[in-house]
Amino acid sequence: MELKVLQLDQLNDLIQVLIMDDYQLIGPKVKDGVISYDSIKSSSELPIGIIDHQSPGKYALQNIQSSRFFGYTVSPYSWKKYLYPPVQSLFKVNRNGKGISFEVTNDEPRYAFLGVRGCELNAIKIQDKIFLKGNYIDPNYKRRRELSMIIAVECFNTCETCFCDSVGSGPEIPDGADIVLTEIFEDGDHYFLARSETEKGQDIFNHLKLNDADDKHVLIKDAQLERVRTQLKRRVQTTGLKSNLMANPDHPRWDEVAERCLACSNCTMVCPTCFCMTVEDVNDLDGTTDRQMRWDSCFTSEFTYIHGGNTRESVKSRYRQWLTHKFASWQDQFDSLGCVGCGRCITWCPPGIDITEELEALSIPSNQYKKGE
Ligand code: SF4
Ligand code: SF4
Repeated sequence: MELKVLQLDQLNDLIQVLIMDDYQLIGPKVKDGVISYDSIKSSSELPIGIIDHQSPGKYALQNIQSSRFFGYTVSPYSWKKYLYPPVQSLFKVNRNGKGISFEVTNDEPRYAFLGVRGCELNAIKIQDKIFLKGNYIDPNYKRRRELSMIIAVECFNTCETCFCDSVGSGPEIPDGADIVLTEIFEDGDHYFLARSETEKGQDIFNHLKLNDADDKHVLIKDAQLERVRTQLKRRVQTTGLKSNLMANPDHPRWDEVAERCLACSNCTMVCPTCFCMTVEDVNDLDGTTDRQMRWDSCFTSEFTYIHGGNTRESVKSRYRQWLTHKFASWQDQFDSLGCVGCGRCITWCPPGIDITEELEALSIPSNQYKKGE
């Protein structure tokens, strides 16, 4: 828990120690015009000098000619891509001349995730509740999660779409990381403050020669976090949110948002907490069947298709289900909100629908609401 100073060249040492310890390191890098979370082997692959601009329906990267490693906010991808992959084989059935045999593959790597933000760690903790608590544990998620290492990095910037503070999920890093880094750029000095939070993290630290931080470093770090907090402009008013949503299934705003929503599912695909899935059997002519679990979305017409009918035929009913689940019924199910305020669903919604704006409009009593408010 002691705060240490990690010099710039030691960032690559940290990466090399993780790789030597048999972790597959996943971190931010520029790929296909966005910040992607991908396999990296050296600190030179990090998005040095790159920041992101995000607003409703818009995303762009900019090179600001800086030596900063973690100047962006969040990637369109989330760590869910690794802990709960979009397509996973549950088992294969092979047919041969004598009968059938089952094959289960679970030889995935130990992941080390570098650059996890506060909101993202909270999203992982929400998915832990979904997959690891209660009567039904997902053994695949459990295995990946237990093997993984989390190196969180505090935010330096915010985007126009971030609202973590108002939903209680950032910008500070909650408990649950193995190592926490803060990138400091102050008076011409550039270094990291680092703390290990678990035995796993300390084992990695033991391979690095890190100097102790002092009180001045703590003040710089706290001031940076406070500056980030004051940059956050979007907010969600969470007081009374659940009862208001539950009481307003016929609010006129639902019709209005349904006119804009394309039911494309982008919001659910980029969301780090959404977990809808479907199961499909993929058959091959060689006699093999692969039973696959795939991400699905409450926005697709097939998702609620049962016994010859669809329980949510209109886009209005699907949008209402999504938003009400995230901010109301999720609280009954998992004792938290289903949103960590990362803003991805705002950025990646083609018509730029903004959930914070929708929630604000829905808080106006139906009989006082004027279209377009
Ligand atoms: S609902 Fe939107 S803002 Fe909230 S966690 Fe999901 S993608 Fe992020
Ligand atoms: S809210 Fe936006 S991203 Fe989500 S389904 Fe509708 S159009 Fe697509």
